[in-house]
Amino acid sequence: MTLKERDKKHLWHPLKQHQLQPESMAIVKAKGCTLTDEDGNEYIDAIASWYTCMYGHCNDYITEKVARQMQQLDHVMFSDFTHEPAVKLSEELTKILPENQNKIYFNDNGSTAVEAAMKMALQYYFNKGEKRSTFIAFENGFHGDTFGAMSVSGLSVYNGPFEDFLIEVKRIPTPNGTNHGQILDQLKNFNLSYKIAGFIYEPLVQGAAGMKIHDAGGLSSILDYCKSQNILTIADEVMTGFGKTGRYFASDYMDTKPDIICLSKALTAGLLSMAITSCTQDIYDGFLSDDMAKGFFHCHTYSANPIACAAAIAGIELLTSERIQSNIRRITRAHQNFELRIKNHPKVKDSRSLGVIFALDLNVKMQRYGSLRDILLKFFMDRGVFLRPLGNTIYIQVPYIITTKELEKVYQVIEDALEIV
Ligand SMILES: *Cc1c(COP(=O)(O)O)cnc(C)c1O
Repeated sequence: MTLKERDKKHLWHPLKQHQLQPESMAIVKAKGCTLTDEDGNEYIDAIASWYTCMYGHCNDYITEKVARQMQQLDHVMFSDFTHEPAVKLSEELTKILPENQNKIYFNDNGSTAVEAAMKMALQYYFNKGEKRSTFIAFENGFHGDTFGAMSVSGLSVYNGPFEDFLIEVKRIPTPNGTNHGQILDQLKNFNLSYKIAGFIYEPLVQGAAGMKIHDAGGLSSILDYCKSQNILTIADEVMTGFGKTGRYFASDYMDTKPDIICLSKALTAGLLSMAITSCTQDIYDGFLSDDMAKGFFHCHTYSANPIACAAAIAGIELLTSERIQSNIRRITRAHQNFELRIKNHPKVKDSRSLGVIFALDLNVKMQRYGSLRDILLKFFMDRGVFLRPLGNTIYIQVPYIITTKELEKVYQVIEDALEIV
């Protein structure tokens, strides 16, 4: 029996309606930008497996560091112990994070990084004896699938069935360059009626919403207002972190820095599941007390797993290297040229790019998980490229090590697809 057939017996996949989509593609190997399926077909991973393996799959430099760490120290609890990989990672990460980030808290995935960030914000005020229970979030944001993260995400098939169980969130539109006056008025009104603990946002690019890019100036004015009202600002950089936007973090584009930052996905270079919630010294100090109960009693068993830390350290070494930085600049320029090439195509409604992120919206109506979307996915796979359309959006987020030739192939299949929709 093939893997594809054996899969159907016991497995339940995420984000699938198994009655309509019984098949999963069986991948047996990944190296660099290439995925190989069980029939030996090869595909360029043009979305870096959900933007994780930015230095390429099975990167020799990273796998070697991870293999060495496995021989030395596999895992210890992080509530009583510390270890070199966690200490080293905190040192390396605070060097590249926005300068106000001083404390590193470990989680195990993007959703729990958000969950911890929200709990930090709520308890920060609880510890001060101030009750603040509402969050502000952008419309159509995505922050993960646990309950807190679902609450601050825009309503969709992901969280619809759980709507009655979510915490209180007020939503504002994303800034588009002309609407920030209205957004600020709306924020001020919310601030009069609710006790707001924090504002959570995907800085500059909303990933799951279809790689929607918003205005840095407008975001800055929202952040400035939040700071003036002691509304804690939480940047969810789970998708945008580690070079995607052309800078180490999307928050680097704004002068006003967030109080808390959520990191995952590319953090461990696509090897292992780990996440981090970083924060300022002030947030951390808000939990210091002679009273035990004011500590942060939130923990995941695999917190700061040394092997995952080793992958993250190796990833940061590559990210900060001149070779990867020049690759990011090369991909950024290539995306800009591709955008010029396709933006006036009658099937293209909108196109945009920032760093290694590129997206275009098709000028056709389609459902997020509808049949045209499935046809497009198959069209790309048949031509050896893995691209995963989100509704009518086709986006690219390639590993930084992609060659110019491979990237040109990705562009070409998208241009070909424009002729069939
Ligand atoms: C993927 C993602 C999450 C959730 O991370 P998981 O590891 O899938 O739980 C949260 N926020 C953003 C912006 C993401 O892209």
